[in-house]
Amino acid sequence: MARFIMKFGGSSVATVEHIRAAAGVVARKQREGHEVVVVLSAMGDTTDELLARAHAISTRPRPRELDMLLSSGEQVSISLMAMALREQGLEARSWLGHQVRIRTDSVHAKARIEAVETAGLEADLAAGVIPVVAGFQGVDRDDQVTTLGRGGSDTTGVALAAALGADECQILTDVDGVYTTDPRMVPRARRLSRVTFEEMLELSSLGSRVLQIRSVQFAGKYNVPVRVLHNSGEGEGTLISYEEPDVEAPVVSGIAFSRDEAQVTITGVPDRPGNGYAILNRVSESHIIVDMIVMNAPRAGVVDFSFSVPREEYDQAMELVRTAAVDIDAGEVLGSANVAKISVVGVGMRSHAGVATTMFEVLAREGINVRMVSTSEIKISVLIEEKYLELGVRSLHEAFGLDREPDPAK
Ligand code: ASP
Ligand code: MG
Repeated sequence: MARFIMKFGGSSVATVEHIRAAAGVVARKQREGHEVVVVLSAMGDTTDELLARAHAISTRPRPRELDMLLSSGEQVSISLMAMALREQGLEARSWLGHQVRIRTDSVHAKARIEAVETAGLEADLAAGVIPVVAGFQGVDRDDQVTTLGRGGSDTTGVALAAALGADECQILTDVDGVYTTDPRMVPRARRLSRVTFEEMLELSSLGSRVLQIRSVQFAGKYNVPVRVLHNSGEGEGTLISYEEPDVEAPVVSGIAFSRDEAQVTITGVPDRPGNGYAILNRVSESHIIVDMIVMNAPRAGVVDFSFSVPREEYDQAMELVRTAAVDIDAGEVLGSANVAKISVVGVGMRSHAGVATTMFEVLAREGINVRMVSTSEIKISVLIEEKYLELGVRSLHEAFGLDREPDPAK
């Protein structure tokens, strides 16, 4: 007998029929002799609809009231699920976050879970009752309702798995796992059977569609195996867990990409200590997150200084940097919002040389110019012109051996 958390996302409980089907999947698990705790999101687009209503009434609703409102979505789905499970002949009971006592800090709309009381849930499990817990919500020290940020029910699932010592936290959703890259861009992308917590964090641009990134950090911290699974409960899905040494493991596990990028370049920056700081400080004071940074070797006493920022912050960053450029006596400020980032990710890179070489070789062959590079132990990212994004991703996917075998039946 094992203990599972089964978390269903909004699309998996979108209608009464979906809830009934999900209850069937839970019932099957329980009848196999396992213990199950269900965690749910709100039905379909409920949270978006509630948010839209709030903003129709107030341009700046108080965060406390927003949390009160948004947390109501999950109350609907859990009560209906408990009813659906009873219709399947199982004992079930719904729980709100404050009833469990999922304790959080007091930061409305992005609260962090601090502790989970397990006594009530354990008592249900011991009595053969399936607890159905509202995801995405908690309660702070002053008994105020909080929410965990969009997609937060994944984090609820992982937190419950950690607190209850579950064997696995299953995330049941409308895709059957995490892919080597976005299958909408590369039809030959494959489902990964395993991926490490670290890789999953680096692949977040692919995975965030599937999993709240904070839940992966949480799972890594408490070593909770997470399995992304199709909501039919069929198949193996993708297991996210700690690295197990595997000589067969591919060097590159997946390719992430993002169009949400822009590049800013300040030319003719006098080569003096403090000038890089003078530029970046302006930008970070405005809470703009700088990702890649490149500075070339000084020539004639000046350098070019480039960095990338989220595209929606491009205009603001350009303005800040133009002011900084005047202050430090630099030259022209150039930039482009038509850039994109490709990242190849894999724990296998730690023990393999030449990944960067292959990456540059492939891009060169396709005539794609690399504008910026950044690396970590398990990732290499390049910034390129956006119009080459698809070509770049496809070529790298093939070059690193990630393409699915062609289907002989076709
Ligand atoms: N219902 C919440 C949202 O839409 C939480 C979740 O789906 O995980 O963000
Ligand atoms: Mg979700």
